[in-house]
Amino acid sequence: VDLGGTLVRAGAFDLQGKLLAQREAPIEAARGPEAGLERIEALIVGLLHFVSSTKTFRLSLLRGIGIGCSGPVDPDKGLINNPHTLPTWENVPVVAWMQDRFAVPVRLENDADVAALGEYWLGAGKNVRRLYAITVGTGIGAALVIDGQIYRGLGGSHPDGGHQVIDPSGPPCYCGAHGCWESLASGSAIARMAREAVDARDVELADSKHKPVQAGSLHRNIDPSRIDAQWVAEAAIKGDALAMQVMERAAYYFSLGVVNVATLFVPEVIVLSGGVMKSAALFIPAIEAAMLRHNVMVPAAKVRILPAQLGHLAGLYGAAYTVVQS
Ligand SMILES: [Zn+2]
Repeated sequence: VDLGGTLVRAGAFDLQGKLLAQREAPIEAARGPEAGLERIEALIVGLLHFVSSTKTFRLSLLRGIGIGCSGPVDPDKGLINNPHTLPTWENVPVVAWMQDRFAVPVRLENDADVAALGEYWLGAGKNVRRLYAITVGTGIGAALVIDGQIYRGLGGSHPDGGHQVIDPSGPPCYCGAHGCWESLASGSAIARMAREAVDARDVELADSKHKPVQAGSLHRNIDPSRIDAQWVAEAAIKGDALAMQVMERAAYYFSLGVVNVATLFVPEVIVLSGGVMKSAALFIPAIEAAMLRHNVMVPAAKVRILPAQLGHLAGLYGAAYTVVQS
C-alpha cells in the first residue's frame, strides 16, 4: 500500500516482485482515519479477490502487507501521525487495524524510505549495496538504504536530508532553520525564485522605461501565482533568460546537497526521482561538475547519479519489499 495525501494505491505482488494487479482510490483524509482505513482495507480485499480469481492463489498464501505512508510514521508502534498532509490523522494504528482484519504481518514505513527500497529491490539500485534516494517535488525527500535495510536514526527516526542547511543566510524554512536544501532547490523553491526574479525585473523595468525588454524573458504579464517549477523548467528549455538563471541557481544549490550526500556516505548510486526531476537534464551538468570538484577526499566522481526507474510505483514496490525481506 502506498498512502499519499490525496491518493492511496495498492498492489498485489508475488515474492519475485511481479506486480500482479493494482488499484487506487482517493483517500479523502479529512473524512477521518476510520473511513480511510476502511477504504484501504477494501482496496486490499478487492486485490485479493482479483488474484484469487485469475491465479493459483489462496488466501492462506498471503505473506503480509507493507504500507508506505507520507510524513511522520512510527514503524515500531505501527502508527501514522501525519495531520500535515492527512488532516485529522494523528496516531492512527494502521498496522493493528490491518493485522486484525487480515491476520498477517503488517509493516509500516515512511514514503521516502519505501521509494528508496523499491529502487533498491527492482529499480535503478538493483545489485548495489548502498543507495541514496532523493525525491524532488514540492519538497525534497531523501532516504538511505544499506544492504537492503533502511538506515534509521535514534528511536527509529527518519533522517531528513531535505532539511540539511545549504546556505545559512538563505530564506527561512517552515522547519525553523534558514537555507534548507528544500527551501533552495525544491519545486516550491524554484517557483518562489522565479516569482522573485519576475518582481525584481518588473521593478527594474519601471525604473528605466527606455530599457528594452530582454527577448525571451519570462512573460511580463504572467500572473505570479501561476508560476510553478514545471513552468519555469519549460521556459528554461525554450531558452528564456530569466528562467535559465533560476534553474541554474536551483541546480547549483541542488548539486551542493548531492555532494554532501556523496561526501558523507559515498553510496554506489544516488537515485533521483519526483516531478522536478522530469527536468533532470537541467540539473545533471551542475551535479557532475560539483562531484568532480569534491573528488579529493572521497571518490565522489565514481558515485553514479541515476534517474529512478520505477516512477510513481517505486513506493508500492518498496512497500512490497518490506514484506519480502522480513
Ligand atoms: Zn527546513
